[in-house]
Amino acid sequence: MIDSTTRCPCGTGDTYGSCCQRYHRQFAQTGALTAPTPEALMRSRFTAFALNLPDYLLATWHPTTRPHSLELDESLRWYRLDILKATGGPFDPQGTVHFAAYYRSAPGTPKSQKVGGLQTEVSQFTREKGVWYYLDGAVE
Ligand SMILES: [Zn+2]
Repeated sequence: MIDSTTRCPCGTGDTYGSCCQRYHRQFAQTGALTAPTPEALMRSRFTAFALNLPDYLLATWHPTTRPHSLELDESLRWYRLDILKATGGPFDPQGTVHFAAYYRSAPGTPKSQKVGGLQTEVSQFTREKGVWYYLDGAVE
């Protein structure tokens, strides 16, 4: 975990407290999903990956494509997100986010087993009853 004054993992340059934490906290306290745009939701999901918050990831996954459970790979650290293109505003029914997410091995991984790289993907988002959900993504 990180505290609210640490720079947010999603890369906006803001602190976690004034960035993705508000969505994570709202969800933890009330179950409400409040990210206003696909980009904000994508950022908060990346940060949930980085901070190991599988409940938030599952909740923001659309029910039609959501896995039953989610095992995050503890051997990887997601450390950087670049949003290449994002569409969809607060009142649109659909949106997309094209992004690159960077990962590397967790500290303590033996040198011979270290990995690192990036995944680029175009994710689809849909808005229902005012709530944005991650639908699916095409890895490039
Ligand atoms: Zn953030």
